[in-house]
Amino acid sequence: MKISNYHKANSLQDAYEVLTESRNHAIIAGGGWLKLSSRTVEKAVDLSDLPLDYVNETENAVEIGSMTPLQKIVESESVKSLCKGMLTQAVAQIMGVSLRNLVTIGGSVVGKFGFSDVLTPLLAMEAKLVFYKQGEITLTEFMAQRGRTDDVLEKIVLPKTKGTGYFKKVAKTPLDFSILNLAVAVSDGHYKIVVGSRPSVATLCEEAMDYVNGKKTLSDDDVEKAATLVCENVKFGQNPRASEEYRKELAYVYTKRGLKEVRDCES
Ligand SMILES: Cc1cc2nc3c(=O)[nH]c(=O)nc-3n(C[C@H](O)[C@H](O)[C@H](O)COP(=O)(O)OP(=O)(O)OC[C@H]3O[C@@H](n4cnc5c(N)ncnc54)[C@H](O)[C@@H]3O)c2cc1C
Repeated sequence: MKISNYHKANSLQDAYEVLTESRNHAIIAGGGWLKLSSRTVEKAVDLSDLPLDYVNETENAVEIGSMTPLQKIVESESVKSLCKGMLTQAVAQIMGVSLRNLVTIGGSVVGKFGFSDVLTPLLAMEAKLVFYKQGEITLTEFMAQRGRTDDVLEKIVLPKTKGTGYFKKVAKTPLDFSILNLAVAVSDGHYKIVVGSRPSVATLCEEAMDYVNGKKTLSDDDVEKAATLVCENVKFGQNPRASEEYRKELAYVYTKRGLKEVRDCES
């Protein structure tokens, strides 16, 4: 990456104004991923002087500032208390402490990376995003938006639910990108199933969710059927890490394990 000019924002408004002056301007957070790109950035807008590095609890939610490093999320008791620590588990498996001290939750969300181990649990936890201009939107709405984001992410809001969760990352080595990741969450009998690194970006498994959420209780046969629906309806692909068939097989096995674990935990 080549950066021609650099601007240290003194407010969210200032960051937004400088960002939207040109399509060649970009927000720089941890810089971990931007640094690896071949892009030329005419002006990098640095958010590091803004008070966006925090994990706060409100009555109904845990709020995470967009500039919060991933390691702070791993260490947060507030985050650990949500959905049986699903997000904590997912983030703790990303590289090592030194990288996690550098890279941010905001960059991890806005990047919409196909390999992301962050978006998968966040979708299952029904995360909301607060942008400077757009205001609050759901992560699902954000994922549906096409093209580059010309807005500044302020924070991620995680609703406090009494539910439980399951997260699985499958990778060749502990430091490698996911071959596949999968999250299942349940709250008040309402299930969410998300598959990521397929290898494309994380997605909700709508057909399987409709099926399990239409049941009063979930039998082992229902769990089998839901896992089959995931394989039949989610688009899997191949890349140098794994074939489409292997990913489907993993999704089948871990959907079953995840659903059984959260079902048994809730009851
Ligand atoms: C070597 C390496 C290995 C990795 N391995 C994994 C892995 O196994 N699993 C995984 O999930 N992730 C992995 N990651 C990705 C990492 O976890 C981060 O998601 C990534 O580095 C982006 O975070 P950042 O803070 O570095 O963002 P940056 O690189 O600074 O920015 C990323 C993008 O987000 C935009 N952006 C950042 N913050 C904001 C904001 N507040 N508002 C608007 N736009 C914003 C930037 O303009 C840019 O387009 C890896 C990264 C590296 C460098």
